[in-house]
Amino acid sequence: MTARVIDGKAVAREVRDEVASGVQRLLAAGGTAPGLATVLVGDDPASEVYVRNKRRLSVEAGMVDLHRHLPGDVDQATLEALLDELAADPAVSGILLQLPVPKHLDADALVARIPAEKDVDGLTTLNAGLLAQGRPGLRPCTPAGVLRLLDEYDVALSGVEAVVVGRSPLVGKPMAQLLLGRHATLTTCHSRTKDVAEVCRRADVLVVAAGIPGLIGADAVKPGATVIDVGIHRGENGLVGDVRYDEVAEVAGLLTPVPGGVGPMTIAMLLANTLTAAIAQQGLLEELGG
Ligand code: NAD
Repeated sequence: MTARVIDGKAVAREVRDEVASGVQRLLAAGGTAPGLATVLVGDDPASEVYVRNKRRLSVEAGMVDLHRHLPGDVDQATLEALLDELAADPAVSGILLQLPVPKHLDADALVARIPAEKDVDGLTTLNAGLLAQGRPGLRPCTPAGVLRLLDEYDVALSGVEAVVVGRSPLVGKPMAQLLLGRHATLTTCHSRTKDVAEVCRRADVLVVAAGIPGLIGADAVKPGATVIDVGIHRGENGLVGDVRYDEVAEVAGLLTPVPGGVGPMTIAMLLANTLTAAIAQQGLLEELGG
């Protein structure tokens, strides 16, 4: 078998186009353009690239770029004061604190300053709780992007065996909860799981977010399964994922590439969250939908 390749770039473009149309509808309904405040601390080159792309694509979708950049030695109180200012500013629809922040800062305390309705990364305790309870809220962008890919490719989720490798608050845990919410029979693997390959072989839908290059090979994949690779690693020959693409492509039915799979979806879902947040804050949810 040779897997069909999931085209994350194309789906991400579709989501961004939907967001751009949504922004136009918001303006036509008398609303104001969504404002996205990305907050970057320090000069980490990878974070700078991520933030630059988020800003560029938000502007392309018709949003207002309210970026803030602080020096890497900024203290906790100054950063908290900035987040409080953004929280109170009606022009700011969404706040994205780019993680990781430098080690001397308390990231959890910083995220806690972001009001849930502006938490476009879906990382606050309130939004995590709403997801755990299956109630509406802003969802973490990467798992939401994975779900959108699965839907675009008509992957059945109800009643199927789904395995998520990884249980981080950013990816694995919310991914598992989203799949549970869609009635999958869910198993989570993590660093203490005894035989990851054996558990993964049960999966009709396998989502891998372990952060270990090439962790998952063909021996861990059921023939015909859908395999989503969230991992991103900069290798000598470019970007690679957590899945050994060439060998898994021989076994899987559907597979995401790296790059061009999950990666582009993360920013697209950030824009979708920012639009949803703006519509809710402007009291136009009933008129324009979520
Ligand atoms: P993390 O390090 O916070 O979490 C990794 C998880 O994997 C942990 O829960 C750990 O228990 C589990 N794990 C570690 N070793 C394992 C093993 N041998 N077997 C099974 N499970 C194991 O990482 P994260 O933030 O969740 O990110 C995971 C990967 O996804 C990274 O490569 C990251 O770069 C990538 N990522 C990509 C995007 C994107 O937009 N595509 C977004 C976020 C993260």
